Amino acid sequence: MSKWQSNAESRCSTGTQTDSMQGQVPRLSKVNLFTLLSLWMEMFPSEKYDLIKRKSQPKRTGLVVVLNMKIVGLHCSSEELHAGQIAVIKHGSKLKDCDLYFSRKPCSACLKMIVNAGVNRISYWPSDPEISLQKEISEHTSNGDAKLDAKAVERLKSNSRAHVCVLLQPLACNMVQFVEETSLKCDFIQKIERKQPDFSSRIFYAYRQEKMKEYEAHLLISSEETHKEILRLMGLENLCENPYFISLRQNMKELVLILATVASSVPSHCGFGFYLSESQQIKKQQSLIQEIALHCIIQARILAYRAEDHKIGVGAVIWAERKSVAADCDGTGSMYFLGCGYNAFPVGSEYADFPHMDDKQKDREIRKFRYIIHAEQNAITFRCHEIKPEEKTMIFVTKCPCDECVPLIKGAGIQQIYAGDMDIGKKKADISYMKFEELTGVSRYTWQQNPQNEYNDTRANSMNQHDGT
Ligand SMILES: [Zn+2]
Ligand SMILES: [Zn+2]
Repeated sequence: MSKWQSNAESRCSTGTQTDSMQGQVPRLSKVNLFTLLSLWMEMFPSEKYDLIKRKSQPKRTGLVVVLNMKIVGLHCSSEELHAGQIAVIKHGSKLKDCDLYFSRKPCSACLKMIVNAGVNRISYWPSDPEISLQKEISEHTSNGDAKLDAKAVERLKSNSRAHVCVLLQPLACNMVQFVEETSLKCDFIQKIERKQPDFSSRIFYAYRQEKMKEYEAHLLISSEETHKEILRLMGLENLCENPYFISLRQNMKELVLILATVASSVPSHCGFGFYLSESQQIKKQQSLIQEIALHCIIQARILAYRAEDHKIGVGAVIWAERKSVAADCDGTGSMYFLGCGYNAFPVGSEYADFPHMDDKQKDREIRKFRYIIHAEQNAITFRCHEIKPEEKTMIFVTKCPCDECVPLIKGAGIQQIYAGDMDIGKKKADISYMKFEELTGVSRYTWQQNPQNEYNDTRANSMNQHDGT
């Protein structure tokens, strides 16, 4: 039985609830956070894999592995292996009781193994499955391989203990708008605005439009009839009726829009990217390729929308690079996920247990800063692998790490920091950002124009032409 937890009437109920909690901003639900990250993992940059051209089976699939509501794996399918197979290779029997969030419904070859491992729940994005049905539907094939696989998947599902379901939740009413506003105010856009006075929100929206088009082509099905047919073949005929079908499509479109908005908040505009801080530029350390750094910082930006601090959401994610190439079966290449977090009150505490005052209120005793666990602190605490000194470990943070976090990052053995730096050198009432700039022994990659190459004006001009669109 699929669990579709939305209908047209209930769409705004979360919004009303949010409004009644004074000053609270909309947050992503955990389920939507995991779903968004699974979609984003499908987009993991890879040289071998051309996202646009590849039409062969199976379709590239992103996967988030969750245990006790904590992310323990971010994967995507590779040339040779499906996402579900990678999960079995990487986690083995530790998959027991995990929840798996797939960006496409897994095929029978994946499903039988992950069901066998004893997973608790398998959630998937209700678009074209891993073994694409779209082609068979458009060609009116009556019993093609994809349809046969869909039947096998249904049989495995009905005989399995694990729940195989669609877990999408309606977004808070003002979520899309909130993501848009905060993306325009994030460190990366602010930095571009500071250096490029002609950068305007119109350029941001042009980027978003481009991304939206690209993601829609991958993640949504333009024809309603084809979408219904796919849902029926996946055993979701109950979602084909209205109002469920309309709200399902609306919900999916909004989530893709959020992804496009967040991705546009770190645009490779006019040569901007993550480069070593000025004082460290003499160092010749192998940095990540820009596309991967951007991908990871966008993961952190998505996580920030789950933050509990209602004023500033911060997200952090830790990845490491494996030394031996032999173990690279994942679509993420030699990169593997280590941990992630967002700023929140201590685990197990009720939201109302702690003061929510910020530095504008006078009474120091009731301010929140002593109680909030920072994104970096949560990522380090709840990491799912040890940090190995012989491997390159990287943390991606959406804001400048504060003086409380900088020694923690260094002490944990993390070698590279990719972060926003708008707060660098600032000293605020409760929190200061003095140590980041002076940090030695850890490479600091900040968002700036490529210091090595003078940025080529022709590309800048071609990008500015989007301005008018
Ligand atoms: Zn598969
Ligand atoms: Zn901090």
